[in-house]
Amino acid sequence: MIQHITVIGSGTMGNGIAHVFAQNGFTVHMVDIRQDALDRAMATIAKNMDRQVAKGSLSEADKAASLARIIPTTRLEDGVKGADLVVEAATENVDIKLQLFRELDHLAPEHCVLASNTSSISITRIASVTKRQDKVVGMHFMNPVPVMKLVEVIAGFNTSSAVTDSILELSRKIGKVPALANDYPGFVANRILMPMINEAICSLHEGVAGVEEIDTIMKLGMAHPMGPLQLADFIGLDVCLAILEVLHKGFGNPKYAPNALLVNMVTAGNHGVKSGKGFYDYSHGGKELVVADNFRKS
Ligand code: NAD
Repeated sequence: MIQHITVIGSGTMGNGIAHVFAQNGFTVHMVDIRQDALDRAMATIAKNMDRQVAKGSLSEADKAASLARIIPTTRLEDGVKGADLVVEAATENVDIKLQLFRELDHLAPEHCVLASNTSSISITRIASVTKRQDKVVGMHFMNPVPVMKLVEVIAGFNTSSAVTDSILELSRKIGKVPALANDYPGFVANRILMPMINEAICSLHEGVAGVEEIDTIMKLGMAHPMGPLQLADFIGLDVCLAILEVLHKGFGNPKYAPNALLVNMVTAGNHGVKSGKGFYDYSHGGKELVVADNFRKS
């Protein structure tokens, strides 16, 4: 039975994953190589729980108890020695993940399941550096984790069905809705989402329509909560480009080739919300959507 959970990486996703497990009664060790990242993560979790308290969906007492269940540490060994499940949410970099899984395989108890929250790296490849391929699985949460219901569960080539079943059950236990996918580039979510975003960028690049028009058509016409260009800014244009490159290389199909405008924007450092500018300009706080000057009609 899964009781003790270790989350590796305390960034955007790691702190959300730790938050959700702790709120559902699990003891969570949260590991990061940086103490400042752990401090920031604890502050973010407390702030997000305050919001739940203000909305009435969490009591002050449950907030305090949930926070007390999270144990931050920079020492991987201490963090994983009693774990039943590790959820890795470290930086999206193949070398970092392969090295981490080698270490996790060595340090974690034999029965421990090793899950990765990767958006695009092959679970089978990650599993291949361990001696427990049957216990390596994808557990792909969506951002923001405390809000988004979906967990895309990914079965690697040698993942056992007992392990995928236990992750599906655990996801339901923490109030999420899991969906199972096999391990092919982009899994399901990004295989479908990223070509849509790329096509929106192609439409802009070819002058079919402007930024606001494309987003309005997709938002109101398809009942999407935000348009594809705004969503790309939110995800990060560098992240979109990296995932498209994985799809393009993985399938060898030109339909996944990233649009040249996207490549240019990433090269220029216009990465979306996090850099202050993408298709929209966020330098004034981003409360109201302002089309970036690169795309404004003069
Ligand atoms: P992030 O950059 O916000 O956080 C990554 C954290 O990992 C940092 O705090 C960093 O210090 C830490 N880290 C790096 N190497 C480490 C190591 N060896 N050991 C422990 N900690 C280490 O990244 P993020 O956006 O939270 O993404 C994390 C993972 O989640 C990635 O695999 C990403 O693809 C995936 N993901 C991200 C999103 C998203 O919208 N951001 C959505 C779904 C999945």
